[in-house]
Amino acid sequence: MESDNTPNSIPNFYLATFIITYKCPFSCPMCFFSCGPERNEVMPKEMAFKTLEEIRNLKISTVCVTGGEPFLQIDLMHDLIIKAVSYGMTVILVTNAFWAVSKEAALEKLSILKKLGLKWIQFSLDDQHLRFIPISRIANALEAAIELGFEDIKILGSSKGNTGKFKYQLFYLEKILGICIDNVDIIDRPHVSNQYFEDHEQAKFSLQELEKTENSASPANKPGDCLTELLIDVNGDVYPCCNNFIGRIGNVYNNNIKDIIYNLNYNHYFNIIWRSDPCKLARYLDKTLNTDFCDKRYGSWCELCAQIFQNDSFRDLLTNTHPYGCRKKTN
Ligand code: SF4
Ligand code: SF4
Repeated sequence: MESDNTPNSIPNFYLATFIITYKCPFSCPMCFFSCGPERNEVMPKEMAFKTLEEIRNLKISTVCVTGGEPFLQIDLMHDLIIKAVSYGMTVILVTNAFWAVSKEAALEKLSILKKLGLKWIQFSLDDQHLRFIPISRIANALEAAIELGFEDIKILGSSKGNTGKFKYQLFYLEKILGICIDNVDIIDRPHVSNQYFEDHEQAKFSLQELEKTENSASPANKPGDCLTELLIDVNGDVYPCCNNFIGRIGNVYNNNIKDIIYNLNYNHYFNIIWRSDPCKLARYLDKTLNTDFCDKRYGSWCELCAQIFQNDSFRDLLTNTHPYGCRKKTN
């Protein structure tokens, strides 16, 4: 199914990710959403279903269900998978596989999901997750997914900038635990966290260095490439990429998704990032609003986005209610 959500020139979003809960058995320091055992936020089912329907109407054909740990909201996870599959959508589940305590347990859990129509599954693997989750559980989950014939299986790393460790983890899975990962896709993204100021693991780049897209800290090879995914947060906030470091572009309780996307056409700041990159936005803000983003050092583009948008003055820069933004709505 082809995406058809853009009345003008704004990129076609091809994927919508639902953060259904912040609850997780662990508290990884680099967690995008600062999830953990003490977090109880859950996406209301009515809101999730209403948003899913809007996404379907926009012909966005792929939906990702994650958290936090989606297995801790198993009913909502199942309901969303069933509904999205009934809409003819491809569903991706992202999980840390803490539940895969044995291969049998993994087979039991994943065979239920397979029957519901889930075909794509992704498992997180990096040194932060491995502080809490034994690699044997990733191995159990992978083996079960392979045995059950999942169509698309991915390992999601966040070690870019620290690739030696990631390579060793993959080596361990293959050579020590004997898991055949020939047909498993490997994705390794830059390591960024909400506690980015405390993240000293990555080399830090000046803005000039960061602007070179061949740099391993860039999540995209060309401008706009990372703005292809809608992220629906537990509270209804909508973000235009795979994490919440960038500013929110609206909230599903205030606007429908179609209007939220349409309004991006008129948001000057969004257009700067989309047509160039966050470095250009940093330069523009320094020039027009007397900020000092160009003088700092960053681990990656995402960290730069985080530094810009987690600043209280710019949190809503990409929404049309911000005083610096433009206001335009569809009928
Ligand atoms: S396991 Fe994943 S969702 Fe849970 S705290 Fe760690 S990064 Fe966040
Ligand atoms: S946070 Fe910024 S740089 Fe990172 S993926 Fe999102 S838009 Fe791209």
